[in-house]
Amino acid sequence: MSENFLATLNESQQKASQHIDGPLLILAGAGSGKTKTITTRLAYLISIGIDPSSILTLTFTNKSAKEMRERAFSLIDPNLINTPPLLCTFHKFGLLFLKLHMQVLDRKNNFIIIDTDDKKRILRSIDKEITTALMANEISKYKNSILTPAEVKETAQLKLYTQIADIYEKYEAYLLKNNLVDFDDLLLLPYKIMEKNKELAKEVSAKYQYIMVDEYQDTNELQYKLLRVLCCTHNNLCVVGDDDQSIYGWRGATIKNILNFTEHFKDTVVIKLEENYRSTDTILNHANQLIEHNRNRLGKNLRGTRHKGDSVKLYESHDENEETRKLVDDIKKLLLAGECASDIAILFRVNALSRSLEEGFNKAGLPYKLVGGMKFYERAEIKDLIAYFRILTNPTDNFSFKRIVNKPKRGIGKTTIDKLDARSIQDKKPIFKLIDELSPEELIVLVGKKNSRTLKVFIASVLDLKDVLEKSKIGFLDAFEEIFDYRSSYDNAPDGIDRQANIDEFSGFIRDYFMQNPHLNLEDFLNEISLESEQDKLFNEAVSMMSIHASKGLEYKHLFVIGLEEGFFPLIGDGSNLEEERRLGYVAFTRAMDTLTLSFVHSRFYKGKRAMLTKSRFLSESGLIKGSLKIERRSDFIKGDIVTHKIFGMGRVEKSNKVGKEYKLTINFGGSKRDILSSFVEKK
Ligand code: ATP
Ligand code: MG
Repeated sequence: MSENFLATLNESQQKASQHIDGPLLILAGAGSGKTKTITTRLAYLISIGIDPSSILTLTFTNKSAKEMRERAFSLIDPNLINTPPLLCTFHKFGLLFLKLHMQVLDRKNNFIIIDTDDKKRILRSIDKEITTALMANEISKYKNSILTPAEVKETAQLKLYTQIADIYEKYEAYLLKNNLVDFDDLLLLPYKIMEKNKELAKEVSAKYQYIMVDEYQDTNELQYKLLRVLCCTHNNLCVVGDDDQSIYGWRGATIKNILNFTEHFKDTVVIKLEENYRSTDTILNHANQLIEHNRNRLGKNLRGTRHKGDSVKLYESHDENEETRKLVDDIKKLLLAGECASDIAILFRVNALSRSLEEGFNKAGLPYKLVGGMKFYERAEIKDLIAYFRILTNPTDNFSFKRIVNKPKRGIGKTTIDKLDARSIQDKKPIFKLIDELSPEELIVLVGKKNSRTLKVFIASVLDLKDVLEKSKIGFLDAFEEIFDYRSSYDNAPDGIDRQANIDEFSGFIRDYFMQNPHLNLEDFLNEISLESEQDKLFNEAVSMMSIHASKGLEYKHLFVIGLEEGFFPLIGDGSNLEEERRLGYVAFTRAMDTLTLSFVHSRFYKGKRAMLTKSRFLSESGLIKGSLKIERRSDFIKGDIVTHKIFGMGRVEKSNKVGKEYKLTINFGGSKRDILSSFVEKK
């Protein structure tokens, strides 16, 4: 059987799939079958009798985990899979791990995962001055660098950072007190647990004998360390990635993980895949030309295997309305010609660019799905429902309790909540239990007569609902509305119709979930949705619109990339990095299988005004247009080139010799000649 499915792979892919013990690095360009190779390897390992439950595969999204699982299982005899292999995101793995081992940190495993929005609200309540985004990002950075508040305080130079270290400390105390974990904790706490308990680390490592990671170029320092611990008893780690597709540098991912893999793991076998199976030769050729302008890269060969294909189409428009019209017309034609909407995608670097597209699609009645944007579960009404459901599964969750105790309005104000909070700390009891256990008289002393009655009724209602839930996972949704009148509280609200539609969609979704997974409970559902990522909500029969970041690993027959203008793409400004922008360009172009259309405009309405724009340098760098200047590859240096050096200023190249990936240049700086390596100068 195994021979059968290996036959669809090329020789290098086969070799990689059949690799069993020891570290393996598969380093290869876009569309070369990296994901396919590790999927096949998973099937191969199971087919030769390796216990599926000893294989752990980590991916970037739940969606890709699901796809890989389906594909791998379709390749092998289902009888071989008694316990399925674990295939999930790093965060999901962290969650499962914490459910089993949280007690090592003297914490209970009924913790709640908070999302970015919750995190910001907590930070705002701790400090009112510093911007929440700054606090949130800094703290995330510290956690991912495994730094405690005390360590940050020690090294902080500026007052601002000492303040943030203080906030970090308070934030951590708040999470601990309420038994909350944030997304970073899902990686950090498992690491800390295994650092603290080496025996446990060895046990877990021995359980997962074979570990695989897709998209390794976008892992960060903490993920690397976690992998190290997980591999500590065997070093059977197989990673795949592409340094040219590293696009999460801004979020702390470090390309060093992949560049230094062979140093990190001794005796690594390196396999390169050099054929692209996704894109036409034309598309691939332009993508390759673009990425060749980056200096910090390993440099790889990537040959096409398909046909030449259509030329890349360039759209030049006056403004975004004309741009949208062209796209809408094209996509209509594709659909009329029988193409599936799900095979078409539009990508952009900056999310704001989707607005005019959405308008145009709505007008034309074309089905589309915007990936990302405001996430469904981040809407206030959905978060309220989630908070209700969390209380049902975990009455110690003060955080959720406080969110819903006055939703819909019951006349419970902030002062009352503060009193309950203070008493809950004093009595070391969650608020829910506190109200339940205090006698009516005691509660009246604490919060007054009217509030006391309201709170007692509230608690009794939650307990009633809990009874219903125990009897019927589906029936509890109707009971919820009957008891709390939550949906109807939006009856006359200005945006009530939208909100009620969201509530209905969410209820329908929960019903489906339990119909399909009758053995799972509400807690499983809540955990699962807290880990949903952007790509996980892709609809089927619709054109996808998404940021380039969200498109990683995906492929579309017909691809449109809009906003190829200087300033938008490459994005220029706050912390943007031209090489990372170019990698984003490479990722974008290489999502296309059959046709690629790139679009730029002369002006766009952005941030309240109309901005005049010039076309992106990426168009000339990828060989799609000849600029008015002679377009040369930045990596070439020839005699006569004018260059600038940080210290010596402007000079002219007199001699140029290629040495490896670099050029050794003799440069004349206003009369004095120096030998300098090309990576130290910029070409004018
Ligand atoms: P990315 O870098 O974008 O993540 P990748 O290297 O993971 O890409 P895959 O998604 O695994 O590439 O494969 C790209 C496409 O090529 C898929 O449609 C896959 O089925 C196809 N493919 C891969 N290997 C082969 C092969 N040996 N023969 C035919 N098709 C292949
Ligand atoms: Mg892939």
